[in-house]
Amino acid sequence: MNAPAAGTNKLDVARIRADFPILEREMNGYPLCFLDSAASSQKPAPVLEAMDRYYRQHHANVHRGVYQLSQEATDMFEAARRAVARFINAPSEQEVIFVRGTTEAINLVAGSFGRAFLREGDEVVITWMEHHSNIVPWQLICAQTGARLRVVPISDEGVLDMEALARMLDGPVRLVAVTHVSNTLGTINPIRQIADMAHERGIPVLADGAQAIPHMPVDVQALGVDFYAFSGHKMYGPTGIGVLYGKREWLEQMPPYHGGGEMIERVTFEKTTWNELPFKFEAGTPDIAGTVGLHAAIDYIESVGREAIAAHEAELLRYGMELLAPIEGMRLIGTAPQKAGVISFVIEGTHPYDVGTLLDKMGIAVRTGHHCTEPLMDRFGVPGTVRASLGMYNTREELERLAKAVEKAAAMLR
Ligand code: PLP
Repeated sequence: MNAPAAGTNKLDVARIRADFPILEREMNGYPLCFLDSAASSQKPAPVLEAMDRYYRQHHANVHRGVYQLSQEATDMFEAARRAVARFINAPSEQEVIFVRGTTEAINLVAGSFGRAFLREGDEVVITWMEHHSNIVPWQLICAQTGARLRVVPISDEGVLDMEALARMLDGPVRLVAVTHVSNTLGTINPIRQIADMAHERGIPVLADGAQAIPHMPVDVQALGVDFYAFSGHKMYGPTGIGVLYGKREWLEQMPPYHGGGEMIERVTFEKTTWNELPFKFEAGTPDIAGTVGLHAAIDYIESVGREAIAAHEAELLRYGMELLAPIEGMRLIGTAPQKAGVISFVIEGTHPYDVGTLLDKMGIAVRTGHHCTEPLMDRFGVPGTVRASLGMYNTREELERLAKAVEKAAAMLR
């Protein structure tokens, strides 16, 4: 495993890249240039090895067996929970719920908090830059409860309108759900400030951390949020595992989300009582290997250093924007001063899909389309964008390749 040289904030990117086997691949005759980490990041060998070792040596179902192997699996599962709690500075590991990913975490809060606390005429506040995963669950619960969705507008740079938010918070708002970092614009939202504004009025805040957790230190207590959701697969861990952090005071008042094994204390046909936190929200056999992989991903990120990753990516982002901006017809979508990990753009006279297809032919993997943020595309009046997104393994040379390839693709398409 790699770490930056002691006493510096610089990453040894060549050594990091050597930990990611997939980066050795060629794509269409070129070395793979992977610029789609916002959709899902690649996995370092320690994550792959930890999961392989778990299945080869330690697998059994958790929490149910008296035998040694089941206890080993349970210990590994609960060690992962402690690692997550430490990683996000949760006050207690009982406030860390394992879910499939960000989407499930938000659905859990919408379904459970919504059933408990939302009534006709209440409001849920989201923003214009939310991923569909932080829009649709709220629409579903609003339709069931008669609550109403309010949407905070953004500026042309992609910055949240805090005055509009303040005005909305004076309404009958029961919850604010906002992304920490926008997956399409890269905007970093001022979560602490939002939480303070909401809490002054007694309103809880959920932050969608899917795009923040791979890029920067996250401390849920410093952010002041009531709920924080993220996915393992965007932070160098496996797919199928994610986390909902929730403040105990809310989780205890919320009803279970799914019913089944493990989430109960006692079941009779007449009445069932619930297990304690976090198990009340973890019905059924969990993704045990996923938690082991997530734990290894946390260890890996910490070995590299979260500050060092953030600094490296900030420098790459600045460089990438600088290289792309002068290309003829270039329109960068998302130019907020506080920005992380994402460069979205359209080029006049071309369709993002065609640009993405040509980039692929040159070995460059970028995402094209609406990025599950269709209202945001409408806001900017574009059908979609080309999105290059960064991970700790990306290099300046890759961004130079991107800029040259984009220039070439644009010339071919115009
Ligand atoms: N929220 C944001 C900001 C995202 O970028 C994503 C995925 O791209 C999600 C939520 C959904 O994450 P998942 O598909 O892992 O549940």
